[in-house]
Amino acid sequence: MSRLENLEPKEVFHYFEEISQIPRPSYKEGKISDYLVKFAQDRNLTVYQDEIKNVVIIKEATKGYENVEPIIIQGHMDMVCEKEPGYDIDMEKEGLTLQVEGDYLSAKGTTLGGDDGIAVAYALAILDSDKIEHPRLEVIITVCEEVGMDGATALDTSMITGKRVLNLDSEEEGKMLVSCAGGCTTICTLPVSFVQANGQMVSVKISGLLGGHSGNEIDKQRGNSNQLMGRFLCNLQNRMDIQIVKVNGGAKDNAIPRETNAELMIAKENAKAFLEEIEKFQEIVKKEYQVSDPEIRIEGELLKDTNAEAMSLEDSRKVVFLLVHLPGGIQRMSMDIKGLVETSLNMGILSTKEKEVSMTFSVRSSLKSQKEFLVAKLKSMLEFVGGSISIRGDYPAWEYKQDSAFRNQAIAVYKRMYGEEPVIEAIHAGLECGILASKIEDFDCVSTGPDMFDIHTTEERLSISSAKRVWEYVLEILKCK
Ligand SMILES: [Zn+2]
Repeated sequence: MSRLENLEPKEVFHYFEEISQIPRPSYKEGKISDYLVKFAQDRNLTVYQDEIKNVVIIKEATKGYENVEPIIIQGHMDMVCEKEPGYDIDMEKEGLTLQVEGDYLSAKGTTLGGDDGIAVAYALAILDSDKIEHPRLEVIITVCEEVGMDGATALDTSMITGKRVLNLDSEEEGKMLVSCAGGCTTICTLPVSFVQANGQMVSVKISGLLGGHSGNEIDKQRGNSNQLMGRFLCNLQNRMDIQIVKVNGGAKDNAIPRETNAELMIAKENAKAFLEEIEKFQEIVKKEYQVSDPEIRIEGELLKDTNAEAMSLEDSRKVVFLLVHLPGGIQRMSMDIKGLVETSLNMGILSTKEKEVSMTFSVRSSLKSQKEFLVAKLKSMLEFVGGSISIRGDYPAWEYKQDSAFRNQAIAVYKRMYGEEPVIEAIHAGLECGILASKIEDFDCVSTGPDMFDIHTTEERLSISSAKRVWEYVLEILKCK
């Protein structure tokens, strides 16, 4: 029994409902992937399925479109599976219970998977139709987008002949994404030696920061608790010798850290001066961050211990040197797109281990060359003080294309249909488009999609009327000659 049979466009919601009955968490896309393969086979379409279950479906041009360049339609089949506490469902085995409320489609007690099920539904409705006009279509539906874009990374694109890509993984109608950042995680490691130290042990706690996403919120001038700790220790070092026992802060490289803790050994007679420095630093931070991060607290405490294993004076100095001098935050703004952060980095994790201190950065840039330079800078700095770096999770940028015929066409169609320009945006975070851009020569892409709200949460909902308008928009783009 169909719950969505009265919704328009019928064919889109028909497929949306079908795929909603197939569990499709990341890493477990087998069933949905096989469904897509069968769908294509039943319609005599050429289909490719790789080992990790990515699917590519080809449909030849309709009459009169044989000489128009192909269009690649792209989205991902996996979804984030969240459920309300107490709601009884096994999202690896059971389908979703869809519900309609006014203009919104949602799922009872769970995420909806509109991200990116709507792209799959659009693609299937187009592939199924014998009325829609279009050039050769190459539909790419990936796995594991939500968990690091492994599907797109592993995708073999040798069967792809097109270069014009319509990515349908955006969540705001009227907005068109035209570029995204590339990035990597860079781990900076400094070997340190611990020695027996005597004196007054003290603790420093920097907390109450707002934090945020290291891509989307790096431009808000919020404090980074790891780097604030570096600054405090630098101030303190100008007044007294310090030996670091440990210094730790943050949990994820891509989150701006909100709390950092340190334990230090200082001389007993410096106890009072230490507390004065805490007071002073609290005043400085309060003033500097009163708008961007008003709740920052600096707390210092004299501990009972009088001896401990602590880093040597020299190693302690090196740690402070790195915390103060390694770059952080925005490095460059884009000159192509107003307001876009081009290059940034975030020291997300600071951690003391048995024989080393490590600082883990999320590095991002919409220019490959700037990302590489920033990593080189970190490497140079670390090696200068006897440390090293390692890199993981490198993903490419989708660089802004000055001259994009497909983008111009997409804008022109939008203007014709709605009488206004779409909003052109770039994001300072990764998208699958970046990975595809590195695999497809002369890549020419726009990313769009219907209005969705609170994706990745149980409040996720899709605007039905927006899904209809974007559907009509997509069909107009396919119709262009
Ligand atoms: Zn998505």
